[in-house]
Amino acid sequence: MSQSDSRLSLETRLIHAPGSESLPAAVPAIHRATVWRVGPENLESVDGEYEDLRYPRYNDGPNPLEVGAHIADLENAEKGMVTSSGMAAITAALLSNLDQGDHLLVSKDLYGGTFKLVTKRFPKLGIEHDFIDPNAPETWTSALRDNTRVIYVETLGNPLVTMPDLEAVASFAEQHGLVAVIDNTFATPIAFRPLEHGFHLAIHSATKYLNGHSDVLAGAVVGGAEAMERVDAHMCIFGGTLDVQSAYLLQRGMRTLNLRFRQQCANALALAEFLESHPKVERVSYPGLPSHPQHERANELLGGLFGGMLSFEAAGGWQGARRVLQRVRLVCHAASLGGVETLVVSPPKSSHAALPADVRRQYGIADGLLRVSVGIENVDDVIDDFRQALD
Ligand SMILES: *Cc1c(COP(=O)(O)O)cnc(C)c1O
Repeated sequence: MSQSDSRLSLETRLIHAPGSESLPAAVPAIHRATVWRVGPENLESVDGEYEDLRYPRYNDGPNPLEVGAHIADLENAEKGMVTSSGMAAITAALLSNLDQGDHLLVSKDLYGGTFKLVTKRFPKLGIEHDFIDPNAPETWTSALRDNTRVIYVETLGNPLVTMPDLEAVASFAEQHGLVAVIDNTFATPIAFRPLEHGFHLAIHSATKYLNGHSDVLAGAVVGGAEAMERVDAHMCIFGGTLDVQSAYLLQRGMRTLNLRFRQQCANALALAEFLESHPKVERVSYPGLPSHPQHERANELLGGLFGGMLSFEAAGGWQGARRVLQRVRLVCHAASLGGVETLVVSPPKSSHAALPADVRRQYGIADGLLRVSVGIENVDDVIDDFRQALD
């Protein structure tokens, strides 16, 4: 199949990617070449732009092209592009829309790397920002400036798995002529397709759920054709192109995304319910629980798929959390997320260590907080492991 048929369901389109037509194989081939012959039939391209000639850093290889197009197809975007990491995707998406003297509004619930990019690097480039509470749209107008160009949020925020008022973000962007950019890593196209809700650019750390096997570093940006042309032009110069082998592994890993993600959602809900009932747990943050402040909205926008990420506060502060980290056996104490294995980590000691302690507490990130990326093991084994570690 050359062009994926949008009448087919998402599950089917995951398996039958818009593919390379040149080979009869049912699965993608790996094309390692970094040099392509122009050939007499393509001689006109020499008269055009230098970029019209193929060169691997322009993302011209079949594997990166195919997987970028596949991700775009899944999110109902016109164009998609893969990058060497999620941060390369975020950098390209933001810097293709922000110049010196520009300003962006950015959610306070932010991935650590993005937080550093916006607060540490952007000021040196003359790009200003204001943090917004993604659940208080009535406060956004006062943060707006003449030079505001972008509004940036995450579908599900780190580490408390909060959900912004996404429809308000898209309509605010529309109303004020801003580019709405969203990091859709935690939701995946299985649960949420941002372009359908008015976002202009969506980003993934494909290192996480899209690849799903904890063996690839990659990112992706998808969006409308015009916006993507700008992103592409920037990314090719920044050099954040994805290498062929990783692109191939991502193509392979993505085929099981639907199965993995649905199991992770089911396991996460079961684990969240268990943790909420445990006496040594102070609080559980999972959008699938009725106790979550954005449960209703998440239910509506994510179609009942609340993701595989949750966090909980162990009794006894950091010391209590530390004991859990020491005692888990099956569950792996590690950073990262979205793979088939269950991981646990302390956000105040890792992703959010850069935040001053008082800001952290103000954001609700307690010292005893632990974030879990739920895998696809039998969830009873995962629950048993947390039970013995907590007991
Ligand atoms: C991991 C992550 C990133 C960064 O991705 P890398 O592939 O590590 O560069 C960005 N956003 C979110 C939500 C992430 O979890």
